[in-house]
Amino acid sequence: MRPTLGGPRLLLRRLRELMAEPIGAQARLDRTVSLIAANVVAEVCSIYVTRDDGALELFASEGLAREAVHVTTMRPGEGLVGLVVEEAKPVNLANARAHPAFSYKPETGEEIYQSFLGVPILRLGNVLGVLVVQNRTSRLYSEDEIEALQTTAMVLAETIASAELQTAATPGTATAARRPVRFHGAHLSDGVGLGHVVLHDPRVVVKNLVADDPQFELTRLQDAVLGVRATIDSLIERGDVVHHGEHRDVLEAVRMLVNDEGWQRRIREAITSGLTAEAAVERVQSDTRARMMRQTDPYLRERLHDLDDLANRVLAALVEGAHAKPANDLPENAIIVARNMGPAALLDYDRSRVRGLVLEEGGPSSHVAIVARTLGIAAVGEVEGIVGLADNGDAIIVDGSGEVHLRPQPDVETAYREKARLRARRQEQYRKLKHVSCVTRDGIEIPLMLNAGLSVDLPHIEETGAQGIGLFRTELQFMIAERLPTTAKQRRLYEAVLQAAGDLPVIFRTLDIGGDKILPYQRAVEEENPALGWRAIRIGLDRPGLLRSQVRALLQAADGRDISIMFPMVASVDEFDRARDIVLREQDYLTRHGHKLPRACRLGTMIEAPSLLFQLDELLSRVDFISVGSNDLFQFLFAADRDNPRVSDRFDPLSPAALRALMRIADRAGAAGVSAAVCGEIASRPLEAMTLIALGFRSLSMPPASIGPVKAMLLSLDAGALRRAILPLVAELGCNRTLRSEITALARTHGVTIDQR
Ligand code: PEP
Ligand code: MG
Repeated sequence: MRPTLGGPRLLLRRLRELMAEPIGAQARLDRTVSLIAANVVAEVCSIYVTRDDGALELFASEGLAREAVHVTTMRPGEGLVGLVVEEAKPVNLANARAHPAFSYKPETGEEIYQSFLGVPILRLGNVLGVLVVQNRTSRLYSEDEIEALQTTAMVLAETIASAELQTAATPGTATAARRPVRFHGAHLSDGVGLGHVVLHDPRVVVKNLVADDPQFELTRLQDAVLGVRATIDSLIERGDVVHHGEHRDVLEAVRMLVNDEGWQRRIREAITSGLTAEAAVERVQSDTRARMMRQTDPYLRERLHDLDDLANRVLAALVEGAHAKPANDLPENAIIVARNMGPAALLDYDRSRVRGLVLEEGGPSSHVAIVARTLGIAAVGEVEGIVGLADNGDAIIVDGSGEVHLRPQPDVETAYREKARLRARRQEQYRKLKHVSCVTRDGIEIPLMLNAGLSVDLPHIEETGAQGIGLFRTELQFMIAERLPTTAKQRRLYEAVLQAAGDLPVIFRTLDIGGDKILPYQRAVEEENPALGWRAIRIGLDRPGLLRSQVRALLQAADGRDISIMFPMVASVDEFDRARDIVLREQDYLTRHGHKLPRACRLGTMIEAPSLLFQLDELLSRVDFISVGSNDLFQFLFAADRDNPRVSDRFDPLSPAALRALMRIADRAGAAGVSAAVCGEIASRPLEAMTLIALGFRSLSMPPASIGPVKAMLLSLDAGALRRAILPLVAELGCNRTLRSEITALARTHGVTIDQR
């Protein structure tokens, strides 16, 4: 093989013309291999395509026996072609048969060819197939030749990835590029969503692959890199630790990479082989991805995200209109797929068209997850690698319990349609319970309240028949805003909430920021352990201006009605006293200025810090109510980060320690005559909610979709009988890791309706 006159650029141009011709997939591949063989003067040119079973099938060949096409197949890892896939890089051999990986396929007649060059056909780092050239004479191919063949492979990748190629496949097989993929992730929000992929950060589509003037392309690259570098420098200099979700660490890492000479050199080489600047960036990124995806080191995988970030920035600078989002083009059944996103971004989508959300990151307690639950959108997080495998418009199914099916098989789709139908029917039945009172079979009234935080939540009060809002997360308004909401703006939201609730109670929780809840417009403090750091009421007490303005907005919004205010992350009684003093001072201020005070202002705390378990009597003598934030309480009780999937499910909320802690709270509150509610995640799951009632809690607060299943449980429950059955378990089985199976069995024998979803 010797590059011919006109070089790779001529070949690329011919290939591009061929890709555009209206011929079938097989004919296109046949002509492609002839064209490449002729242009690079190779006696053999073959294309192997990765099938969904991992095998590599010979799809087209010039030079090998015709009968071998669609017959010769390499098992995963078999032969030299398998080696190219395994290593995701070129294999260049002067004497192919002497290589230990060589696998003899008699039907091909390839034994007469000595030299072998195979390059991976890569797309977004995935190996879709292998492009091979062979010659009779024994020699190693030059660096230029390898580069030229890799560039050719890149141009081929789109054809191999296209749905059209499936028509050339052997019946009963599927190509890997379009293969169905099943992912297991973390449950974020219940529900089943069937629809089509909408990539939140649409990939920059590189349409112009081939360039005539490499010098011009090199200049374009240089300008783009300089522009990106300047933007990153200024973002870092401005000190915006978080800017549209971009963390300083990421920016620093990207800045290091943009200055990396090796990265730029590889792109320049790709440009010299005939690609446009953008195609060269994409090719180098795809190569790098392929190699890094084979690493298990979490540090290197994290760097891959940084490299993706950099490549996307440079691509966006090179391709005009790259980031113009087709906001109005959302398909009917959109499933948003993203690496990660903030709550505000999710709210930007047209709710009536979004059926699901899939994130590569995003833990169950992340705020985007909370918003997804609020909106009733099925969502799954920690779905590794989906962004690189999904294309806009691909069919996809999201099952909130933690499964995602990309390009599902028809039988999977049928099963999920059935599941979605059953779910809808159940929801319909729950809607019928809307006006039924929340009273157990033995006559105990347990108000079921809503967790809310945004104005989009308000219609849920009426839709679910909830008996009020048990937790209004005021920080959500702050988190989705461009800048700090003024007191007047806060007041308007609180008025709307009280208006929508009518006579029903609302518990407003004061700002719970810090930790992972970072305000985009505020300079965040870098902390080693943000969950244990300067957050929530700690900020409120140290910087009382913010808390005072919020309290004033709340008191004014009440406009003579009752109001309940709750403080988050209180860890000592004295913090409650100081927070209460701020409220009293604001009440004084309003009185002095002739404003109407609320009829009653009830003050309470969240129970999230375990320290409060040992000051309950003192606390309960001061507060009007408490509400258990089990999400935080358990993460601190078990020393297990709620956002870290490695540890977050190491303990079960139905374990003896958790249940004893909860029982202690319920008992002491009962003795003190103080209302004790639970507003953490556990209150939203029927089996756990049943246990909470048995332990003595008399109010539960949860996302809207949980009201129905929890109410169905409650109506079938004899709370007294269950309490008598559960308490001995909690007392006696202290060594069990969890009491889940025992409690499930009790629910069954007591005839309690538990909808596991
Ligand atoms: C909790 O910690 O259980 C809670 C309800 O608060 P958040 O999830 O907002 O931290
Ligand atoms: Mg909390």
